[in-house]
Amino acid sequence: MPPSQNTTPELYLSLLSGRHSDVSHLSTEQCHPFPNDPDRLMDLLDALAAVCIRKEKGEVFFVSLAMDLKAVTLYVSSNKSVPATVISHLHKIQGQLKELRKVVEPNPSIPADNETSPDPNKTQSRTDGELELQKTIYEHSYSKLRRRFFKRAPAILAIYKTTVKSLQANDKDAERLHLTHWALEHIQGLLQNDRPPCSLTDLIETIDGMSAVWRDCLNAAGSEDILTRWDNLIYADRIRKLSLRRLLKKLFTLHHHIRTITRIAWSRRLSPFLEGQFDVVSVPAARGDISITFSQQDVLPVIFPLGEQKELLVCDELLKRLREKATNEGIELKNGTKLSMKTVVHAESTLLAYHLQHLDINPYHYFGGSKLSCHGCATLFSSFNLVAESFHHPQFFTKGCHNKIYLRWSCPSLLPLEQSKRLQPGTPSLDTEVRKKMIAALSTELSAYVNELRAVVEGPSRPQLDSTTASGDSRESAKEGRRLLKVRMEAGMCE
Ligand SMILES: [Zn+2]
Repeated sequence: MPPSQNTTPELYLSLLSGRHSDVSHLSTEQCHPFPNDPDRLMDLLDALAAVCIRKEKGEVFFVSLAMDLKAVTLYVSSNKSVPATVISHLHKIQGQLKELRKVVEPNPSIPADNETSPDPNKTQSRTDGELELQKTIYEHSYSKLRRRFFKRAPAILAIYKTTVKSLQANDKDAERLHLTHWALEHIQGLLQNDRPPCSLTDLIETIDGMSAVWRDCLNAAGSEDILTRWDNLIYADRIRKLSLRRLLKKLFTLHHHIRTITRIAWSRRLSPFLEGQFDVVSVPAARGDISITFSQQDVLPVIFPLGEQKELLVCDELLKRLREKATNEGIELKNGTKLSMKTVVHAESTLLAYHLQHLDINPYHYFGGSKLSCHGCATLFSSFNLVAESFHHPQFFTKGCHNKIYLRWSCPSLLPLEQSKRLQPGTPSLDTEVRKKMIAALSTELSAYVNELRAVVEGPSRPQLDSTTASGDSRESAKEGRRLLKVRMEAGMCE
């Protein structure tokens, strides 16, 4: 019996949404097709998307780039419409980078693909220029930084001394931990207000100093490494929130993004950013509609497509989990069976549709994002990439996927209606083919999930791994960082 309603990717995602099993181990930054990425554009686009964030939570931005020798255009999308402040923020950043470039004077003896600092001895005007840029970005993203800090730091500070004592660190690590304790408390003081403090420079320099102190240890995973030892101690109690490494990584995120963006000032390859025409285009948000009925008779043919025996208990369990998921997302199913609502298309999917509808633009094939993609978006991209070539489109990529499913996800129309209408009858449209691939991928997952439910009988669910990723790039001298932080600490203590 054919399914009684149109099978859509949204239907499959909804049915999968109650999957308890821990799929976050699949969360990865995906392998991208440009392993060399000579311009390191992916990092740059991720950084540009990340610094668009202004609010404490709920904001997502994706950024694509079209660049030739004479002009650069950034296309920015969000889950809602892109605020005008974000567009002006990116213009301001570009303006400050232009000023910075004037004082760094790229050295012609350095090859074009070398993006390291042109002059190891910073001049005062360069330091000032970099600080101005940092201030602009910290000020714009202050609320987000503050939220990141307070999510973990107070709990970590509360156990800091006892944890350090148990660790019995060697002299060098003990010094690091001691400086960090001081710095975290100092930052906590600076972040008290919900408006940026007057002493933004103090905040920036303290974070810079800490980043330098931890430079070589942040990603070190050996069992003797101090942050690993800290985590092992904490994880014994299964309190992941108390990971010092995680807090530091979160705290240094903005610092790393700023360093990545600052590279534009001395990169010769990226010179069109500062020398050509610069535009920022706000990509309009797309809307979607979802209307799905989850009565047993609607769902049974979908979850048992091959005419298997229809097990009502499995179906009931699946629908029970779906309803729980809906409740968690604050969605009410009408009569317990009908999901009906307006949705917005997620930022990266909006950007994909935009570029497929504007073929005169030739964007870089990687979209930078302020976060990893959800399961719906990731499946859309991988499905599109499977058929892209046959429609003479390039593939497009984002940095990876956290595998969560959102019931409010909706699939965008990749082609405008009039373009679909022009197709010969019987010719498959891009939208149809992509959706087919999505359904093929999702139905494989659904059948595995149904098998799981069959076997279930509820084991305790495992805790979710944290899925976000952190960057790790830094060229500061750790020693210099310790020295600076000490100076700051001593100055702070005299106050
Ligand atoms: Zn998404």
